[in-house]
Amino acid sequence: MKIVLLGAPGAGKGTQAQKLVEDYGVAHISTGDLLRAAVKAQSKLGVEAKGYMDAGKLVPDRLVVDLVKERLGQDDAKRGFILDGFPRNTAQAEVLDRELDAMGISLDAALLVDVAADVIINRLSSRRTCRSCGYTAGAGVDVCPRCGGEMYQRDDDKPETIKKRLDTYREQTEPLVDYYGKKGLLKKVDGDRPVDEVYADVKVLLGL
Ligand code: AMP
Repeated sequence: MKIVLLGAPGAGKGTQAQKLVEDYGVAHISTGDLLRAAVKAQSKLGVEAKGYMDAGKLVPDRLVVDLVKERLGQDDAKRGFILDGFPRNTAQAEVLDRELDAMGISLDAALLVDVAADVIINRLSSRRTCRSCGYTAGAGVDVCPRCGGEMYQRDDDKPETIKKRLDTYREQTEPLVDYYGKKGLLKKVDGDRPVDEVYADVKVLLGL
């Protein structure tokens, strides 16, 4: 399984990715998680990325591309991978194509988790994320059900940043729906349903 997940922030990409990882043992490559880890560690990359993330903007490609290349080269990614949050614009998609070509592999699918904007705004403003493992749940969950870590509200899940992130998505990431459509790789699932219903369709769409 070698797939790219597309969809607005809060569409449920991470949740579906987590389920696929649990069931099929593939690598979950989330650029958002990788960047948040860099911010937490206060690495040079993290310090530079933080301002963009807090503003709901994309981090410059040069900072993200190397992270993904390195992660794709790790052992667990040889069994397959789910790219969650990458690519986020056409330039990143082209880099990914070239990188995968060089590795002699090709994508199986680009899966769009489709959810309307008003639903997204409600979801993101009540979303809580685990500081340790990145697991997400709704408001009111204080302890991570997966690892026992602390659940918190991401800075960029606050109302003023959510709108900016959705604008960024529409302007820069949504064109990828066409990009992968033209390559015949696009699959679309209605993400505005209970997690397990969405997941059942995801498995059918991916032929699992
Ligand atoms: P996410 O957890 O995927 O919603 O990502 C959180 C934030 O990290 C985004 O709003 C961006 O600022 C940044 N980010 C994540 N993935 C990328 C990417 N592929 N390219 C640029 N910025 C990214």
